[in-house]
This record gives sequence, structure tokens and C-alpha cells, in this order.
Amino acid sequence: MSDQFPAEAPEAVAEVSDAYTPVVAVVGRPNVGKSTLVNRILGRREAVVEDVPGVTRDRVAYDAAWAGRAFTLLDTGGWDPEAKGMAARITAQAEVGMAAADVVMFVVDSTVGATDTDEAVAKLLRRSGKPVILVANKVDGPSGEADAAALWNLALGEPFPVSALHGRGSGDLLDAVVAALPDAPPESFDTDGGGPRRVALVGKPNVGKSSLLNKLAGEDRVVVDSVAGTTVDPIDEMVELGGREWRFIDTAGIRRRVHEASGAEYFASLRTASALERAEVAVVLIDASEPLAEQDLRIISMVVDAGRALVLAFNKWDLLDDERRDVLEREIDRQLDRVAWAPRINVSARTGWHVDRLVRALDTSLEGWEQRIPTGKLNSFLGQLVAAHPHPVRGGKQPRIMFATQADTRPPRFVLFTTGFLEPSYRRFVERRLREEFGFEGTPLDISMKIRE
Ligand code: GDP
Ligand code: GDP
Repeated sequence: MSDQFPAEAPEAVAEVSDAYTPVVAVVGRPNVGKSTLVNRILGRREAVVEDVPGVTRDRVAYDAAWAGRAFTLLDTGGWDPEAKGMAARITAQAEVGMAAADVVMFVVDSTVGATDTDEAVAKLLRRSGKPVILVANKVDGPSGEADAAALWNLALGEPFPVSALHGRGSGDLLDAVVAALPDAPPESFDTDGGGPRRVALVGKPNVGKSSLLNKLAGEDRVVVDSVAGTTVDPIDEMVELGGREWRFIDTAGIRRRVHEASGAEYFASLRTASALERAEVAVVLIDASEPLAEQDLRIISMVVDAGRALVLAFNKWDLLDDERRDVLEREIDRQLDRVAWAPRINVSARTGWHVDRLVRALDTSLEGWEQRIPTGKLNSFLGQLVAAHPHPVRGGKQPRIMFATQADTRPPRFVLFTTGFLEPSYRRFVERRLREEFGFEGTPLDISMKIRE
């Protein structure tokens, strides 16, 4: 029985973790048995909607597991209602599969043999350099083995004879899939080995940066790292907050107080940029007793553009009366709308009021910055979202999100595979809903599109 597909899903499936899960795409012409195969692999836990003409499957990604390895199974068959003609459809599947998957399962109907379309796809797949597992489906009994062997012609290596319908030949197939899975994510996951978190404390002159630093660090501060050869000679300080060490970047620049000099703003902005370069999270300090300034907004934009986690800290709260508080709320609503996702704290560096709240805000932002949504979860969410709120029709066309993947963290980066250009308002809508669903507090999100023409 060891070469039979599991009748029941293995236990491991229920516990697919939030860690990196590799993606396996199932690609093939219509009717070769892709959804039957997907159902088999899932142990029929999740019904894949039958192929009713004109009805698109609303899910394309499923959490699966075999031999203790979790992976996301991507059923490309449900994606491309708009592609013209079968060749275009299957090419699109293969392209998305190659772009998004770690391993491609290419399913061929062995009772039909390799068609011209199959040959064309095989050529694409060979060129991609991705591991390809060739599935010779509909080998329901020993007499079909010869048909399967004929598929060596596709030059994709050994064809795996399988009956998705009856479950024949399966263990070997899944063993091969699991063996082809990468051990680690393809892109570098820059976790940089723990170490203290790197914080940039930024803000325009006189907002209270050095006062806050003094409050946080106290007198017995530790100055580290003189980096030679830079004009601003940044020196960091280790500061203990909430029982942990944090590395505050370029505190020398903060303490030097050169802002009275001419050209100070220019140099301050250079210093901010270089501090952000090395930081993971930025605390933008704002003087709450004064109207929000152009320079505050510019500094916030620098943080967002640098892709760093963000905390907004409103200082000098001891100077505020009720009237100023109301006005400030309105200023924030109006001008800080685009960073409404950033945690806000109100503090007084002078009295020390609420300064202890900084740690929680930093943790929140860093957590959002490093958050990763598993592919299956992301796509089932987007599938529902897109079904309920399709993109408006533009010039007779209706672009559609076919599949999405979170390609990176720090900050989270998403790639949407679409059938056309998504207008900015729709992308903002998707971003807003992503945040509502998954949080991502305190982090900018980078959302890009890969458009299939
Ligand atoms: P898809 O369009 O590639 O997703 O194909 P389906 O999974 O919908 O299968 C198409 C048809 O082929 C259905 O009638 C299936 O029952 C049948 N089929 C799928 N796998 C097998 C198989 O291993 N053996 C046989 N005999 N039929 C199969
Ligand atoms: P930096 O230029 O951003 O480093 O700002 P400083 O820390 O030098 O502070 C500028 C001025 O604001 C100094 O006179 C501080 O005493 C004052 N200041 C800083 N924080 C506060 C605060 O929370 N409340 C009040 N009332 N004054 C503050």
C-alpha cells in the first residue's frame, strides 16, 4: 500500500506552520486530471470545484503535506478565464507556475500522449531551470505503463506513471516532489542572527531627540562603534529598554547639536538617510506642541521609502492643552492618513511620561515588518476578496488577480499575478483589506504586479 495516495490526509496537514512553505504548481492542459490529482494529494479534505464551463474555481492554493514536509499546492487550472485559446491558457499557467512555484508538476494525459501544446509547455519549462516533475496521468493499470514511458520524449526526465483517479503509483510521485523541494526559501531571509534591534531615532531639529535619548539611556550609556571614513562618523549607543538591549543608530549625530549652523537641514537629512539605511525600525519624533511641519512629513516619507518599520512618537505632551490636542488630532487625520497603520505614542521626554510605552510600539512595528503570510492563506483570502469585490471594468476589460505570493519580509513584499493593470485605487483597496485581515501594524507594504498580457 505504500505507493497509494493517502485515503485520509496525514496528520501533518492540519499543522502546516506559518514558516516558509515551498510552492508546488500543478500545470497541464484541461482534462488531463489536474483537479483529480490535487484532490488525491489533499486526501479529499478540500473539495475542488468541478470544472463547470464558465465557472472559475475560487481557490487555487491549498496547504498540503507528504512525508512530514508541508507545501502549498497551486492548482493553476482555475486561473485564466480571459486568456484566448487553449495554448494561451496553458502558457499562462506555466508562466505563473514558473514564476511563483519552487517545483512544477506538469500533468500529461498518457492515454492521449504528448500533444503540440504539451511540447510547447515542456519547452518553456525546460528553459525555466525550475525542477519539473512529469506526471503521466491516467495510467490506471499495468497496460498503461508503455504510454507513460513514451513521455520520455518531452525531455523532462522520468515520467511518473500515476492514476489520479484510482490512486495508483502515487507514493513515488510524491516522494519525488518532496525530494525536489528546496530546504530554505529561495531569496535571502536576512534574519542576521538575532542581535540587538537597530533603532533610528529621527525627527527635525528641536523636537527632543537628545532629551529622549537621555531619558532612555540614562547617564551610564555605552557608546559603541566608531565607523571610520564617513563624514558623519556615526556612533551608536546600546540602550536597555524592557529588559533587552537595543542599538540606537547614530546617536552621536543626535547629541552633537549642530542644527543651528547653516545648511543644517541638509546635513540632518543626510544623517537621517544614513541612519535609516542601517536601522530596522525608525522612531519619528514629532513636536506635538507645534503644527505638523513639512519636514515632519518628509522624514516620515523617508522611512516609508526606505522600507523600515515605523513608530510615531508625539513629544512635549506636557505642553499641550485641550485645544491643541483637538487641533493635533485633526492634523493627524488629515496629514498622516497614509501612515495610519503606524503605532502612535504620546510622550514627554522632559518628564519621562509614557516613555516606557516605546518598547511595545517598537515590538509591534517590528513584528508587522517581519510577518509572513503562508501562500495558501493569502490566496484563499484574496480569492474571496476578489470574488466579492472584482476590479471595475475598464475599456471592456476586467483585470483579475489570479494568484499572489508574499515574496519577502522586512518589509513585507507581495507580488500579485494579474490579467491586466490594476488601477491604484484598487491596489490601495487590496492593501487596506490585507492590513485589516492580517495586521501588518507599523510596516509599509510593498505590493507589485506581474501582468500577463
Ligand atoms: P483538469 O481539467 O486537468 O483539472 O482535469 P480533471 O481532474 O477535471 O479530470 C478530467 C477528467 O479526467 C475527469 O473526468 C476525471 O475523472 C478523469 N481523470 C482524471 N484522472 C484520471 C485517471 O487517473 N484515470 C482516468 N481513467 N481518468 C481520470
Ligand atoms: P533635538 O534637537 O531633537 O535633539 O531636541 P532636544 O532634545 O535638544 O530638545 C530641544 C528643546 O526641547 C530643548 O530645550 C528641550 O529641553 C526641549 N524638550 C525636549 N523634550 C521636551 C518635552 O517633552 N517637553 C518640553 N516641554 N520640552 C522638551
